[in-house]
Amino acid sequence: MHRFKGIVLPLLLAAVIWTTPAAGQSTEDIHRMIRQEGLENSQVMDHLQVLTDYFGARLTGSPTLEASGEWALNRMESWGLQNARKDEWDWGRPGWENVRFSAHMVSPANDALIGEVLAWTPGTDGPVRAEAVQVAVPERPTDEVLAAHLDGLRGSLTGKIILLGDGTPAPTREMARRHDDEEIAERFQPGVADATPARPYTAPTGPENALSAREVRSRIDEFLISEGAAVVITPSRMEHGLIRAFANYTFDLERSLPSVVMRTEDYQRISRLLANDVAVELEIDIRNNVYPERTTEYNYTIDIPGTDLAHEVIYLGGHIDSWHSATGATDNASGVSVMMEAVRILQELGLQPRRTIRVAFWTGEEQGLLGSQAYVAKHYGTFEEPTQNYQNFGGYLNLDSGTGRIRGLSVFGPVETAQVLHEIVQPFADLGVVGARETASRRLGGSDHTAFNRAGLPGISLGQDPIDYFTTTWHTNRDTYDHILPDDMKQAAVVSAAVAYELATRDELLPRFAPDAMPEGP
Ligand SMILES: [Zn+2]
Repeated sequence: MHRFKGIVLPLLLAAVIWTTPAAGQSTEDIHRMIRQEGLENSQVMDHLQVLTDYFGARLTGSPTLEASGEWALNRMESWGLQNARKDEWDWGRPGWENVRFSAHMVSPANDALIGEVLAWTPGTDGPVRAEAVQVAVPERPTDEVLAAHLDGLRGSLTGKIILLGDGTPAPTREMARRHDDEEIAERFQPGVADATPARPYTAPTGPENALSAREVRSRIDEFLISEGAAVVITPSRMEHGLIRAFANYTFDLERSLPSVVMRTEDYQRISRLLANDVAVELEIDIRNNVYPERTTEYNYTIDIPGTDLAHEVIYLGGHIDSWHSATGATDNASGVSVMMEAVRILQELGLQPRRTIRVAFWTGEEQGLLGSQAYVAKHYGTFEEPTQNYQNFGGYLNLDSGTGRIRGLSVFGPVETAQVLHEIVQPFADLGVVGARETASRRLGGSDHTAFNRAGLPGISLGQDPIDYFTTTWHTNRDTYDHILPDDMKQAAVVSAAVAYELATRDELLPRFAPDAMPEGP
């Protein structure tokens, strides 16, 4: 025993020093360590591959989503993170997953057709072979106009496969790109408030009492069900075979026919044949799993516990749910993988934050930021009706804009809040980060950070290079691992780790609006 003492003691000392590296280490030293671990030993693409290739689509309510959330918690637990939680919220709708889909033209020619099934619609109960009929949809109809239009079709659609609407493709758009350095440097500055609306909005044209697009679809579905139509196909209206398939927004499978969104190229071919009075016969097979009992969803959280300020919490995360027609790589396995990697780096370096650093992966984002809103309401309330924890919230870093590296931060708060973040990220200028700006908007939109902004809390959106996000991968059948840029993901993990660590270690919490300056809630 005695003779090993000389060996054991230095090892123990090394371990003690290793777990408290912040003592005596400059911010520069810590940044150097974070960069080295994050750029040279990165595992970010490994997390990303498991989420996308192994699990695949992670639709809210599905067993796959839950399995992927549990996997993420387990992996982070294996690195030493603590307090793993599945935080319940009421989803209130059934779970749904597509298992199989095929579509073929069988006459006048044989061909396989490319499409995606609409979520929360029923299957076909075996292959359906039937004649295709195209049904026009009046533009922005009122209730009366739509009813008269559908009346004229009565009796002609029984057993048919319906092509609903015309399939004019979207104009060709710019593909992959990065932000212009000068333009973005001007944009991300304290005092240059983020005034971009959360989502581009074009005012609808048409009569005042026109039905919304959802109302139109819902009424047409009702009519087609009563007429005994077999399947509904709508055009993707995108170019290059891209398809965006969302959902039957009643979430009630009885109120929808089996429904497919077909790529423009196939849809237009069938339309042209029908316009020439050529009979077109199609065969479609759709099989889905439906889980009526899966009405509870979870947000997934896990901590690097803090020390003297452990009751204050810095969050970093993104939504882990995806749409179902691809594997949700850029939306948003990228955000999840980056934040997993950020805490892996901190944990691997044994960095000990003063505040608790909590990773949070939300669900129900794609159906309206449902999980993050439920979480904020439960744990923090709002500025107007705060919970006890409200003052202990230190900030939430959200990544949800694809695969591009981080270029700038937008934070809810006064200009001073942006100034703090602007200074924190200056050492990462060589990696393309230009700065931070503030926003005073409490409107919900874009992504989960706005659930915090809405409550008057400092949500932080990590702005990224767009690459091909809005042109190609966002919500489409091409949102796969192939579109991820590994170097950009590594940069994002390094920057997120450094910002989270700094927020969790500096003396003060981020500044907030003074009570009399808090923008009015929605
Ligand atoms: Zn997203």
